Amino acid sequence: MSEVPAEPAPPDGPLQQLLHLQEDDTALAQLRHRLDTLPERGALASVGTRLRELEEQAVQLERRAGELAGAQAELERQIEAARARREQLDRQMRSGQVTAARDLTAMDEEVRHLAGRVASLEDRELEVMEEADPIHRQLREVAETARGLREESDRLHQALAAAEATLGDEMSSLERRRAEQAGEVPAALLSQYERIRAAGDGVGVARLVGSSCSGCHLTLPSMEVDRIRRAAPDAVVTCDQCGRILVR
Ligand SMILES: [Zn+2]
Repeated sequence: MSEVPAEPAPPDGPLQQLLHLQEDDTALAQLRHRLDTLPERGALASVGTRLRELEEQAVQLERRAGELAGAQAELERQIEAARARREQLDRQMRSGQVTAARDLTAMDEEVRHLAGRVASLEDRELEVMEEADPIHRQLREVAETARGLREESDRLHQALAAAEATLGDEMSSLERRRAEQAGEVPAALLSQYERIRAAGDGVGVARLVGSSCSGCHLTLPSMEVDRIRRAAPDAVVTCDQCGRILVR
């Protein structure tokens, strides 16, 4: 159909206006999609997941650290009691008040027993402290990582708000222009366009480029193209394949 001379519709004809409207609608749909898929949203979700995992980890570490601190305190209490008892025995033995050999032997045995008990309690306390050390280190690491993630989260929240505001502004001005454009299009044509747009993927009007519909990218049969070309300039014709309004 190359012999058909290019005959663009008048620049401000209803079909041309419909094309402008379509451009705005397409741009609006793209902005809406960008708004829905802002990368900051996904990043925030994974930062949130990581923070919750760290919080859970911290709770478990704190619990274990608390158990160990309790165990250490109990061991220290026992060590203190054993030492006090030993000192008491030492004082009694040195006082010269206990004279019976049997009593002194029994006290001496208890002192030795208490020394062994203190040594073994101290060994256990050392074990508890050795177990607690890496837990406290892990807790510090978890806190440090969480602090970094919270900063990242704050940064992402700000970036998201800024991106949303920018896109929101763009959409508002586009929506205003779109409303003006829609006002220019005859009501019947506008409602036909809206109907087709709603049924399809948001595209209600397409250009006939050569013998192809730019909406569905299919080549129209030449008889069909002839029919469209011969139609009155203001006649509304649609693509047989996709149903979109065709602007020739
Ligand atoms: Zn088509």
